[in-house]
Amino acid sequence: MTTGFGLDHLPYGVVTHQGRRIVAARFEDTVVDLAALAASAPSGVDPSVLAGPDLGPLLAAGPRVWADVRSWLQETLAGSSAGRIPLDEVEVRMPFAVADYVDFYASLHHASNVGRIFRPDAEPLLPNWRHLPVGYHGRAGTVVPSGTPIVRPQGQRRPGPDGQPAFGPSQALDIEAELGFVVGVPSTMGQAVKADAFADHVFGVTLLNDWSARDIQAWEYVPLGPFLGKSFATSISPWITPLAALTDVRAPLPGQDPEPLDYLRVAEPAGYAIDLEVVVNGSVVSRPPYASMYWSPAQMLAHLTVNGASLRTGDLYGSGTISGPEVGQRGSLLELSWGGTEPFTLDDGSTRTYLQDGDTVIIRATAGSITLGEVEGTIHPR
Ligand code: CA
Repeated sequence: MTTGFGLDHLPYGVVTHQGRRIVAARFEDTVVDLAALAASAPSGVDPSVLAGPDLGPLLAAGPRVWADVRSWLQETLAGSSAGRIPLDEVEVRMPFAVADYVDFYASLHHASNVGRIFRPDAEPLLPNWRHLPVGYHGRAGTVVPSGTPIVRPQGQRRPGPDGQPAFGPSQALDIEAELGFVVGVPSTMGQAVKADAFADHVFGVTLLNDWSARDIQAWEYVPLGPFLGKSFATSISPWITPLAALTDVRAPLPGQDPEPLDYLRVAEPAGYAIDLEVVVNGSVVSRPPYASMYWSPAQMLAHLTVNGASLRTGDLYGSGTISGPEVGQRGSLLELSWGGTEPFTLDDGSTRTYLQDGDTVIIRATAGSITLGEVEGTIHPR
């Protein structure tokens, strides 16, 4: 079977089945009840790691336990069907409690496009961009699992540079196609996490949709950055792909100029060859390539902690919108419609600049032979 969810993948999540909450791995078109499987085929790891109520205990357990659980699963699933439940009998849930949420801005193409749209007469990249991974702290409590309805946000917006602010539902609701990195092992406040310690702390990746109200954002973001234009919702895919499943798709960064400062350097700076698709109402509107990103996830983690800020189990940090060099690789509608000025056409003949009520957006991705869990959301009217 080639579902993208074979023994080389085995992402983790939380589901409910017949009213029961289960910490699970996804294998082909089934979910594996990890505690039930361990009862019939002892895993050798502390049972509390798989006992839930979510992925928190597994995330906190660290890389040696992650490797032990993965090799136990790969061996056991190859010879037993114990603990398996058909995928269509379960409902996916939030896989872990998000501790802190940070979002970066690591795509050179996205940052350049946004600069050209908002500051057409100036240099597209601000002076800091090539020296540090720009980011901000977001709202952890509104990170929601795939399938959660997205109610159109409302707020202040200004119709034009000379207009008066008005209040109402956003008229420029957008998406941002991103990867999210899930932190397992915490760090000590006051101590920086080195870039080469990435795999000691980060458990895996999820697909992330950073819903964005461009009109609210444009009016509020100077001088302190994103606030209510972003904090109403961020959706993630329900299956967390462990880093161990992505070893074969590690890919060198496109190249950094100038050379970053020492704390951002690693021996082999790398991202991942993960290919995303953005689907609006069934039409593929973009194919963003993660391999085109400028800053690596290890560099983002080093920057996030270099001032002494500590990590907690369940921290989540987003890559920033993934946009490649081509028009068809742009990871936001802001870019696809060039600031709302160039509508694009869906397969049914309708056109969009930003999202309409009832629109459904799916972000999905493949990485070599594996398929990441997809993240979906539908816009509900205010
Ligand atoms: Ca973002």
